[in-house]
Amino acid sequence: MKNLLIIGGVAAGATAAARARRLDNDVTITLLEAGADVSFANCGLPYYLGRDIAYRSSLILASEETFHDQYRVKVHTNTQALSIDRETKQVKARNTKTGEESLFPYDALILAQGGKPIVPPLPGVDKSHVFQLWTLDDMDRMDRYITEKEPKKA
Ligand SMILES: Cc1cc2nc3c(=O)[nH]c(=O)nc-3n(C[C@H](O)[C@H](O)[C@H](O)COP(=O)(O)OP(=O)(O)OC[C@H]3O[C@@H](n4cnc5c(N)ncnc54)[C@H](O)[C@@H]3O)c2cc1C
Repeated sequence: MKNLLIIGGVAAGATAAARARRLDNDVTITLLEAGADVSFANCGLPYYLGRDIAYRSSLILASEETFHDQYRVKVHTNTQALSIDRETKQVKARNTKTGEESLFPYDALILAQGGKPIVPPLPGVDKSHVFQLWTLDDMDRMDRYITEKEPKKA
């Protein structure tokens, strides 16, 4: 195998990338992450909002640079996989900032896109003070709200 491509860069994707490098020193590993961050501690998000974790940086377990320097994994953040062409073994992806689309070839593909929060169709669920807490962006949004509005209960 020459090219390992991983879609999703949090717990499953990041672990798979590190493990793959330990198993094979020569394989080219590329990781696509739709969000801005890889390998962050979802479990810590509520603790940061509750001020038990003081520093946002404590939630980032490994950066793009760490992956490159430690594991020789090429990480593309803000890059969303759009489609998989199994005939030609290529994934089409879009840079969510620039809109630019690229093709990423693979010999082996790992899908590690995780899930999404289920939002029950309750009245008021679309209001601006109702949040889902899944990513660092979600956490930042809630943090700004807490700082600005100083709500007394949740
Ligand atoms: C607030 C919170 C607290 C938690 N606490 C705990 C806990 O205490 N203990 C515990 O065991 N678990 C906990 N969990 C659950 C744990 O974080 C998840 O089980 C784990 O993150 C799942 O990892 P994953 O890599 O499968 O998916 P995810 O963490 O969802 O990561 C998937 C990634 O794939 C990316 N992605 C999706 N689609 C695409 C695409 N098309 N192209 C590119 N990238 C894509 C997403 O942007 C995402 O970053 C918690 C989760 C949350 C949200």
